[in-house]
Amino acid sequence: MAKRVSKTSRTQPDPEGSKRRPGTTKRPFADLTPGAGDGPPVVELIPEKPTLPALRDAAKDCRACDLYRRGTRTVFGEGPRKADVMLVGEQPGDAEDLAGHPFVGPAGKLLDRALEEAGIERKLVYVTNVVKHFKWEPRGKRRIHAKPNGTEIAACRPWLETEIALVKPRILVCLGATAAQALLGKSFKVTKQRGTFVPSPLAPRVTATVHPSSILRAPDEASRRDEMRRFVADLERVAAELG
Ligand code: SF4
Repeated sequence: MAKRVSKTSRTQPDPEGSKRRPGTTKRPFADLTPGAGDGPPVVELIPEKPTLPALRDAAKDCRACDLYRRGTRTVFGEGPRKADVMLVGEQPGDAEDLAGHPFVGPAGKLLDRALEEAGIERKLVYVTNVVKHFKWEPRGKRRIHAKPNGTEIAACRPWLETEIALVKPRILVCLGATAAQALLGKSFKVTKQRGTFVPSPLAPRVTATVHPSSILRAPDEASRRDEMRRFVADLERVAAELG
């Protein structure tokens, strides 16, 4: 959990005023948007000297947006502390929500295969999501994925920003439109710009491709094969950058 420091211990002027709790770190990026949850904003939960384990621990009890009510648990990013590649998806799915680990469901298995075909070892890759709780709608007994909205993405963003700041990946890959638009701007179009590297302060090399779940949703086997081939080709460009 984040170390709490009492108000009386504040000694420095705080440019963020009451938005940041004394004893917690400054945000590496601007854009403070409050979530609609009933807990403190994420920026107040981030430890003063964050490490990945401390960050993961602090995120367990996050209630900064409403999604904590829907998901079973916070599903934080996983991978090596100094991973060369960071893959950022939209949010954990049903299987990830139950398991508590990112990219372990059907889309994660497809991602494993694509990484292997592209020549990238998954154990060298850090995987995470822009939103750490599963957003879903009931359909009968099933929990159907629902897209996170801008408030939820903005509320959760400091977790991702801090993951990026700690891991410092050489290559950051956005998986799908939600991650790409959250990190590269609303005008980024995955359909047109996938596989290209774009200038970004987030990492030395930044690119985007589709989310593996979109391949699973392809209407027939031929389309799935074609989409898989294009996905692997995008990842091969990442592998080529790694050298
Ligand atoms: S989605 Fe993110 S901001 Fe919202 S409660 Fe979960 S961890 Fe916190």
